[in-house]
This record gives sequence, structure tokens and C-alpha cells, in this order.
Amino acid sequence: MSLLEKYENELQRLKQQGNFRGFRSNVQQGKYITIQDHQMLNLSSNDYLGLASNVLLREEFFDLVPNEQRVMSSASSRLLTGNFPEYEQLEQTLSHAFHGRAALLFNSGYHMNIGILPAVSDSKTLILADKLIHASMIDGIRLSHAKYVRYRHNDLQHLEALLEKYQRDESIEQIIVVTESIFSMDGDETDLAALVQLKNKFSNVMLYVDEAHAIGVRGKKGLGCAEQYGVMSDIDFLVGTFGKALASVGGYLICHPIIREYLINKMRPLIFSTAQPPISMAWTNFIFQKVLLMQQSRDDLEHLSDYLQTQVKEKGYTCPSTSHIVPVVIGDSNQTICLAQRLQDVGFYVMPVRPPTVPQNSSRLRISLTAQNNQAELSALLDLL
Ligand SMILES: *Cc1c(COP(=O)(O)O)cnc(C)c1O
Repeated sequence: MSLLEKYENELQRLKQQGNFRGFRSNVQQGKYITIQDHQMLNLSSNDYLGLASNVLLREEFFDLVPNEQRVMSSASSRLLTGNFPEYEQLEQTLSHAFHGRAALLFNSGYHMNIGILPAVSDSKTLILADKLIHASMIDGIRLSHAKYVRYRHNDLQHLEALLEKYQRDESIEQIIVVTESIFSMDGDETDLAALVQLKNKFSNVMLYVDEAHAIGVRGKKGLGCAEQYGVMSDIDFLVGTFGKALASVGGYLICHPIIREYLINKMRPLIFSTAQPPISMAWTNFIFQKVLLMQQSRDDLEHLSDYLQTQVKEKGYTCPSTSHIVPVVIGDSNQTICLAQRLQDVGFYVMPVRPPTVPQNSSRLRISLTAQNNQAELSALLDLL
């Protein structure tokens, strides 16, 4: 028997279940995506403000940065020789925007989530996590020595009951509550103000909130739901990614300076991986400062999102969304795949999302909007649902 056979068999099984994945080459132009010569409106992108596809911004950036500053590799971890000025400049920009709190950068949101949680917890830590958190946080929890309990999605009463229960557990010294602000599959959001109030009832609880889908999109300056709900200084670990609305790559943490220093000493993906190229830091810094001023795009996106959510519900579909991520819950997987294919055939690039990514019988079309979309496009899509 060949050593490859078991892998081959597993791939065969995935294909039979309709869960086989593969890369598809594509070409993107503005809000459109072309796959196998078929151009479609891209409704599956995380480029929520349309900045990743903006050629003018790119030109402006390269005009500003002379060739000798276009450093394409840091050649080491920041702790060795990789700490270029671009890193400190971006951290300063972030710190300034987030009311003077400390900022720390990571190579990706994934690195960030698998690195911070194991570093800041030990066997006397309990992590209470929302049932629907992103895989990167689940992996971080798995790498840690913490005890791990999940609470029902967005159910703060359930969370409160667990917090009270574990106050009486002598083996627990510290509790970290882990959640997202806007959730990637349902497009719904955590009531951050209520969450902060709940945390403040206890002296041993810290909050870890991932703003991956909210940074750039929410708040007057685009600093996320924490800005929108006025709780920026109350979240102990405020994290996000530059890979979505910010049109770049990398993760960031906003925290107390002691936590920042601690992570520099303890966080393995930060210590043992070559830092991102300085040019990426410079680009993120450039984009971030633009995004602070993009109130109009954020308003446009919000109006479009409200319109789509309302219309999808009016058609009788379940749609938990309160954001620019708008699922249309169909239920049956094969039906969802067929519908997605039909929409793609007529020019809307909408992806089906199936179990295990979402719970059984809740297969859905996941529409993610960008500020470049308009109501006429969405109206045409809605006519097909
Ligand atoms: C996309 C995402 C990440 C990962 O961020 P990358 O920078 O893409 O590695 C982490 N958390 C959430 C909630 C995400 O949606």
C-alpha cells in the first residue's frame, strides 16, 4: 500500500461529500472578478472599502516612497535586526489613534490570534469564548494551557452565569473572555457596551475582542466597533487585521504597555518568525491614515448594508446580519450550492458556505459588500433570490 493512499482516500471522501476545496485562479479589476473568462461582480471580497483594488492609491504611495526606502525584506525577527523605523512609525500612528494605548504589530491576524492567547494564559487561566469565534482564536486556545469553555453565540446571560460559576472555582485565577465584534459568517455583532459592563462586575476578568471585520468600517474614524460604542479603553486585548478593509497585511493589538512588553518577551510567533517587509508597514501606515478620513465610504457601506439586510428579510429569508456581511440562509447544502452557481452564471460572485464552517442545516449564501457597490446592483441580485 502506498503511503499516499490514505490521503488520496480522504480527498475522495471530501469530493463525495461536496466539501472538496481547491484554488481557482482569478483576475480582479475594481469591484469585478474574472474566473475562466467569466466576469462577475465580486460579492465575496473582504476589501470592504474598495481600497485593495484602488490603483490610484498605489500610485500615490509609490510616488511618496523613494526606491531606497522600498525595503522588501526585514531579513529577521524584530528582536534581532528586523525592527525597521517603519514598524515604530506604524505603531506610533496606531497608538495615537487609539487614545495613547500601546500598539503591537504581527505578521498576520492568524499569527496574532495563535500567539497572544498562549502567551498570556497558564493552567490557572480560564478562557470563555463565544461559540462562533474564528478558527485562529480556537487554534490559539488549543496551543495554550488554559481551561476552555464556550458560551452560546452572543448570549451574554450565559456568559454571566459562567463568569459567576467560575468565580467560586479556586483553581481559576484569571478569566479571559474571547469574542469578535462583527462575526464573519452571520454578520451580526457583539453588544460591546454590555460586554464591558459585565466585565467590570468582576476583578479577575479580561476582554479579548477581534475586530477583523470592523476595523476601517465602524466608528467615526474607522477604528472599529470599540470606537463606535465608546469602549476603546475598556478592552484589554483589542485586536484586528490589516488584510481586510485596510487593504494590506498583518495584525495589530491595542493594549496596556505592560502587556505589549510581556508579549515581546513571551509570544512565540512574534519572536520566532521573520518580521514583515518594511514596505508593507509603510503601506499600512499610508492606508491607515487615509482610512481615518473615509467617513463617506463608511456611511455608503452602511446604507447599502441596511438596504440589503432589509430586502433579504422581506423575501422571507433568515438573515441575522447587522453589518456589511449579509448571509442569506437557505438551509440545505445542495440547494445552496445550486443557487450560488446560478448567481455566478449570471454575473454575481457569491459563495456558498456549508457545514462544518456553519452549523448543520444552515448552509447559506454569504454576501459581503464593499463601499463600491450600489443599490441597482443589489436590486438586480435580489430579483434573482
Ligand atoms: C480574517 C480573520 C483573521 C485572520 O487575519 P489574517 O490577517 O487574514 O491572518 C482573524 N480573525 C478573524 C475574525 C478574521 O476574520
